[in-house]
Amino acid sequence: TSFNDLGLNPALLTAITAGKYTQPTPIQAQAIPPVLQGRDLLGIAQTGTGKTAAFALPILHRLAAGNRRPAPKTCRALILSPTRELASQIAEKFRAYGHDSKLSVATVFGGVGMNPQVQALARGVDVLVATPGRLMDHMQQGTLRLDAVETVVLDEADQMLDLGFVHAIKRISQALPKQRQSLFFSATMPQNIAQLAAGFLKDPVRVEV
Ligand code: AMP
Repeated sequence: TSFNDLGLNPALLTAITAGKYTQPTPIQAQAIPPVLQGRDLLGIAQTGTGKTAAFALPILHRLAAGNRRPAPKTCRALILSPTRELASQIAEKFRAYGHDSKLSVATVFGGVGMNPQVQALARGVDVLVATPGRLMDHMQQGTLRLDAVETVVLDEADQMLDLGFVHAIKRISQALPKQRQSLFFSATMPQNIAQLAAGFLKDPVRVEV
């Protein structure tokens, strides 16, 4: 498979080439087509497999094709990440791949002031990358609503549970629209993670690398 066969828009293909990626990794080749179609996805993959691009590229494609603007205090795509370091890295990838689009990308995580995040959310953002605790703070303060989320990604689900975020994830899930696209990634799939995935996903495509 080559990137040209996956159905991504020309601006994304240009960004991929500029990033010196010559061919899709296995998780990208398997995940991008169903995610472009709007399917839910269960991805069993470790860091280093190229899984960030496997969800970021089709999400950017769908957001650009939708040609909508985010409403104030909402986001169109939500990426949940266990740590702020990982959240920052994911946001950087979205900015790099989405460089030629007019899509906005923001991050929300703890350990830094609320105010700059509140201001970024006020206008509404296309892509929000967040850690669960700070995301809940924004929901409780009324600085963000999740009722307009079109696609949600739960990244590194096993690490999320290890860090004690299971309750936060359930609360966040309840605030999401019932009709949405959901992607769930974990390096491992023990029973508690499989159960969390089953509650989060609808008829998912399963990809294991
Ligand atoms: P990830 O697993 O998402 O953390 O990605 C691991 C690294 O692989 C990152 O530095 C990416 O920039 C890089 N990468 C992702 N996809 C490709 C690709 N198709 N070809 C070469 N490098 C890639």
